[in-house]
Amino acid sequence: MCNSCLLLDIDSIKMFNFIRNTNLPRKAYAQLAKFWGSRIHVESLYKLFRHILELSNIETTVYDCCINSCCAFTGTDYKTAELCPYCHEPRFDKHCRSRNTFEYIPLTSRIKSMFLNCSLTERMTYRSNFEFNAGCYDDVFSGSHYQHLTSEYVVVDGVRHPHLFFSDSHDIALGILTDCHIHPQLSTSGPSDPSSLPPLLLH
Ligand SMILES: [Zn+2]
Repeated sequence: MCNSCLLLDIDSIKMFNFIRNTNLPRKAYAQLAKFWGSRIHVESLYKLFRHILELSNIETTVYDCCINSCCAFTGTDYKTAELCPYCHEPRFDKHCRSRNTFEYIPLTSRIKSMFLNCSLTERMTYRSNFEFNAGCYDDVFSGSHYQHLTSEYVVVDGVRHPHLFFSDSHDIALGILTDCHIHPQLSTSGPSDPSSLPPLLLH
């Protein structure tokens, strides 16, 4: 890569960081480009975001989702649904276009990118270095469920694999916390049964 290309990349990363850290409004960015565009490298917002997308190498997946954000139309249960199974709003408008979409960054690519950061990689060794003391509950990894899993073989789709949960130092334990605001109906009534929560999109 030529030096000028690298400098343009760095300029774009700095500008993206500046916009994010200051919540810079679009109008202010346009003024920035108008007044100082001839003296500093300022791309249009569209070009800047495309540039950052290329540099980050992150690919997003777009799913149709309910107009009220109840669920994404994916998975065997919802992929072909034409009505939201929760609020019963139609998925498509009169032109057969999806009324709402959800742009998802796959979890796998997010975790892979975490390993590109040396300091974060070091911090992520916390779980594998954690020493369990049976008489002391001082961390989520002291919990009985996690400790029970560490002696269980991984089973996927009914097939038992030869390794135990979290036996590899690079294994990552994901915790999911929700206050039920992911679904408007559940937020008002409150789910008495956790299995009544809508499916979560993880891949
Ligand atoms: Zn809905």
